[in-house]
Amino acid sequence: MKEELIGIIKDIKKGIELYKELNIPIYLSSSSERFLKGDPEVERLCLKEIKELEELKDYIKDCTRCKLHKNRKNLVFGEGNPNAELVFVGEAPGREEDIEGRPFVGEAGRLLTRIIKAMGLERMDVYICNVVKCRPPRNRDPEADEIKACFPFLEAQLRIISPKVICTLGRIAAQTLLGKDFKITKQRGNWYSYKDIPVMPTFHPAYLLRNPSEKRVVWEDMKKIMEKLGLNTDIKKDA
Ligand code: URA
Repeated sequence: MKEELIGIIKDIKKGIELYKELNIPIYLSSSSERFLKGDPEVERLCLKEIKELEELKDYIKDCTRCKLHKNRKNLVFGEGNPNAELVFVGEAPGREEDIEGRPFVGEAGRLLTRIIKAMGLERMDVYICNVVKCRPPRNRDPEADEIKACFPFLEAQLRIISPKVICTLGRIAAQTLLGKDFKITKQRGNWYSYKDIPVMPTFHPAYLLRNPSEKRVVWEDMKKIMEKLGLNTDIKKDA
């Protein structure tokens, strides 16, 4: 597995070098830039994070810690850049995520992808995961015991990735990381912190599908994240 991952990274590296040769603009995080320049320390750290996430994924693949395991088709671990500066944390997989075993691939996920692109990023630049890794029946909210059982896995993902910013999507993710009294409507859009990592809580993309007029405030939240990460905030949104 490690050899395959190294092969994949080398292929991506070649692709990015080609983009650069062709003068095609491409956004790279500072750690990716250093990785491409062959900084051995960054290379070692990237591989370490990939390995740790793979080990965690393997460790939880047959999890039966809560009742959600009974109906799952696939556990949805999370995906993206193991060295991401930005991690999005959603609530729980829905129907399509359960089928594909990947986070945010349904309608709400497509909107999240558009938001990420509007920020000048790609899904592979960031890391996307959920509070609970298995689909609750009929997409109901995850229950307290399910969140409690699954939380150590989210904690471990965040510790391994150690992002510069966490963006929580919706009430459940915000309450899980920031405390059960968190009021998403009143308190979103401000900086909080989880284990010294800045957290920007915003609305869930599924909520935006039902309330498209709220996309404007979510874009304001994304601009705050972009500022914190030193990204260009002049880009025009079209999500
Ligand atoms: N909603 C979530 O919170 N997470 C997903 O992965 C998909 C939809």
